[in-house]
Amino acid sequence: MNAVPAISLRGLTKSFGSVSAVDHLDLDIASGEFFSMLGPSGSGKTTVLRMIAGFELPSSGTVSLNGRDVTELAPFDRDVNTVFQDYALFGHMSVFENVEYGLKVRKLAKDVRKAKVMEALDTVRLADFADRRPAQLSGGQRQRIALARAVVVEPKVLLLDEPLGALDLKLREQMQIELKQLQRDLAITFVFVTHDQEEALTLSDRIAVFNNGKIEQLGTPQELYEKPKSEFVAGFVGTSNIFSEKDAQSLFGKKGKFALRPEKVEVSERKKTGSIQGVVAEVIYLGSFTRLIVDVSGIQIKATVPADIFHRNQTVQINMSSTDLVAL
Ligand code: ATP
Repeated sequence: MNAVPAISLRGLTKSFGSVSAVDHLDLDIASGEFFSMLGPSGSGKTTVLRMIAGFELPSSGTVSLNGRDVTELAPFDRDVNTVFQDYALFGHMSVFENVEYGLKVRKLAKDVRKAKVMEALDTVRLADFADRRPAQLSGGQRQRIALARAVVVEPKVLLLDEPLGALDLKLREQMQIELKQLQRDLAITFVFVTHDQEEALTLSDRIAVFNNGKIEQLGTPQELYEKPKSEFVAGFVGTSNIFSEKDAQSLFGKKGKFALRPEKVEVSERKKTGSIQGVVAEVIYLGSFTRLIVDVSGIQIKATVPADIFHRNQTVQINMSSTDLVAL
């Protein structure tokens, strides 16, 4: 990877009146990285993206791209391109013309434009659809055209704001794989905004978890999942048991607040060393696995088990190892 970050944010701040949307953000994103900004609605992700793109001027702080301060530059003078959630395709233009647009603006010669457009359409496997209008395409195809239009100008950085938000689950999963392949093939930096934790975990090299205009935690998907630093991250990335000080004391004799992933909770019918007794309060079928809520003296514990083994009101034994606890 290039030593100069593709994107470098320093003290980046944006206030709208009394609302502090982004609060003194420092962040470096490496060249070629698939970087996701994950967080609940209103946590500031889109505002950060818009400041990187140049659609929004920061209240204070700087944005640098490949070591160059671009804070004051117009969107057009930055080497970035954005794919919006609604794709923002031009309805009156053909697919070809949509993809060609950015090249025309850059005043490239006609034959060069044609070659580049067809190459971009090939990349997203839609070369046969060049003459259609966006309205004659499916949602997934429109999404691919939006991607082709963004990558055809060969930006160093591609910003994607919830680009799969409008797609149904199946198409979404298919597009996730395609996005990842596209990013690898083109070797450009992707900055991806989502509130879908599973999507962020699947796609990203690193993730920043946003809360109230700040980064709550920054790390690889594995780091965030296995070592969440706060209750917020533990609860937002995957499912977690959160044990209060009182619960931790009574279950483990330990001081402090802890998180424990449901798959680390072992449930069995027979007593084992160290097991504690509970009653199955809820059985939630989730397809490839089942989630149990086990009541242990009033403390509700989530566990992941294979399907069809336990039933509601069944008395069970659970084993939890204190080495699996993550201190918060
Ligand atoms: P979502 O996932 O819903 O898009 P987000 O994390 O991207 O949310 P932002 O859109 O960045 O959040 O918004 C952050 C905060 O700034 C919110 O409280 C929002 O209401 C506020 N905000 C964003 N844009 C404006 C604006 N143009 N004027 C006033 N307030 C704004």
